[in-house]
Amino acid sequence: MGRVYVFVNQKGGVGKTTSAINIGAYMAEAGKSVLLVDFDSQANLSSGIGVENAKPGVYELISGSAPIDQVIRKTSTARLSVIPASIDLSGAAVELIEQEERDLFLKKALEPVRNHYDFILIDCPPSLGVLTLNGLAAADAVLIPMQCEYFAMEGLSLLMQTIKRIQKNLNPQLRIGGIFFTMFDQRTRLAQEVVRQVSAYFKDRVFRTIIPRNVRLSEAPSHGLPISQYDPSSTGARSYKSLAEEVIERGS
Ligand code: ADP
Ligand code: MG
Repeated sequence: MGRVYVFVNQKGGVGKTTSAINIGAYMAEAGKSVLLVDFDSQANLSSGIGVENAKPGVYELISGSAPIDQVIRKTSTARLSVIPASIDLSGAAVELIEQEERDLFLKKALEPVRNHYDFILIDCPPSLGVLTLNGLAAADAVLIPMQCEYFAMEGLSLLMQTIKRIQKNLNPQLRIGGIFFTMFDQRTRLAQEVVRQVSAYFKDRVFRTIIPRNVRLSEAPSHGLPISQYDPSSTGARSYKSLAEEVIERGS
């Protein structure tokens, strides 16, 4: 059975896209077949993984104008494929609002390929709008990247309320796959304090691996490569490899 994970945090710039690309790449390196789904009209995942022409992509898929085999592309990593997004997806957010079952478009669209992959990883935009709700409705579990900063806890409690609401209404199967820390700077006491507080509260739902701030991780997308290919010996690479292993381990 393929497992579907969605990366969600309504805050931008916390590492959703970076994590989807690099966890996906290390899952593929570990022998798993993986499909990345870019579900953000910013299309950072698509460009970060080296897709040059993103049409037809996920917008065409959910609006029914392209079949799924036409929107899945291979990447430079073996066993890692992607459904790209383009700016057209921003229009979908408006179109979807007017439709019945508007939160189930992505779930239905992915259904035919769900079992063709070991893992499907969905990258969401920085909001709790209709696209993110589609992501949450389609997933088995939600993975929450968190930056270690002062308002992190407040954001997390809003997200947890949304997840509860989804579990009640749209997707009773949805689990919290886990919370992980990104862009960690061990020199700051605040970062350490946030890790301590969140870990004390969420306990074993927090992954052991902490992703450090690492410039190589921020450079890799401009080369269209995951960190596993751009600089596999960097600390960013090693940490994402270890996080991918943890996600695989918890998922099975
Ligand atoms: P989101 O998808 O949540 O908006 P991104 O993954 O796009 O966040 O990350 C925001 C920015 O921070 C990007 O420019 C990315 O390259 C950079 N970045 C992400 N993770 C790290 C990290 N661990 N160290 C350094 N830069 C990072
Ligand atoms: Mg993003």
